[in-house]
Amino acid sequence: MTAQLIDGKSIAAKIREEIGTAVAAMQAQHDYVPGLATVLVGENPASATYVRMKQKACAEAGIRSIGHELPAGTGQTELEELVRALNADPQVNGILVQLPLPDHLDDEAVLNSIDLGKDVDGFHPVNIGRLAMKGRDPLFIPCTPYGVMALLEEVGVRLSGAEAVVVGRSNIVGLPVAMLLQKANATVTICHSRTRDLAAHTRPADVLIAAIGRAEMITGDMIKPGAVVIDVGVNQKEDPTAKRGYRLVGDVEFESAVEVAGAITPVPGGVGPMTIAMLLKNTLRAAELALA
Ligand code: NDP
Repeated sequence: MTAQLIDGKSIAAKIREEIGTAVAAMQAQHDYVPGLATVLVGENPASATYVRMKQKACAEAGIRSIGHELPAGTGQTELEELVRALNADPQVNGILVQLPLPDHLDDEAVLNSIDLGKDVDGFHPVNIGRLAMKGRDPLFIPCTPYGVMALLEEVGVRLSGAEAVVVGRSNIVGLPVAMLLQKANATVTICHSRTRDLAAHTRPADVLIAAIGRAEMITGDMIKPGAVVIDVGVNQKEDPTAKRGYRLVGDVEFESAVEVAGAITPVPGGVGPMTIAMLLKNTLRAAELALA
């Protein structure tokens, strides 16, 4: 059996097109264009690339992006003052502080200072708290977990009553994905670095989410035949034949998994493009809330 490939790239492109249409309609009806402020502190090249990709995606969807680039030595007070100014700016609907911040900065305090209505990354503790509570919904769902759920919806997987296993429990991926799955009435197991016998937990999973950061750790023999597998991991693997000397692989060993799973995301081209699409979706939602 060869799994259905879940094409995150084309699903994300469709979502981005829909957002572009909604942004154009908002401009025509309300003479208002959604705005996303990005805040980058320091010179982490990966962070700078992510911010550039987000700004480019905004431009393509007709969303205005306002970039703030601060030196690595920026102080806590200065950064929080910038966030407060952005909170007060009616042209700014979403505030994205690119993580990780340099070590001397307190990221929790910075995330706390973002206006709840502009928390398009969904990392504000109140948003996460609402995500965890029965009968409550966050204003914004964190972008990567939101993308994972959108892919599951696209595949048409029935989550109610399904055995869902999430490997990884980080604040930005594993934990919120697990909370979203249980909100969708799946029976959720969370595995992590202290889990004994990982395969014993992953094998019964109807839905398996890998968010570990370890190249090709989940192999085909750890997957239930027919399972839906979402691979969040992005890892560099040495490859002398590649121009850069490495290629990107997920947390799942694709070659063996594709023979067992019912549906699977590739890396790259699976979850990655969805993260940016969901950021645009959250920014549009923030603008709609601001206009309401
Ligand atoms: P973290 O390092 O914050 O978390 C990794 C999690 O994996 C932890 O909960 C850790 O357990 C668990 N883990 C580590 N080793 C093992 C193991 N041997 N067995 C079981 N569990 C283990 O990573 P992130 O959540 O931030 O990211 C995970 C992956 O997703 C990375 O590859 C990252 O690059 C990628 N990513 C991709 C995005 C996208 O848009 N495609 C967005 C964000 C991340 P413990 O808690 O015990 O330490």
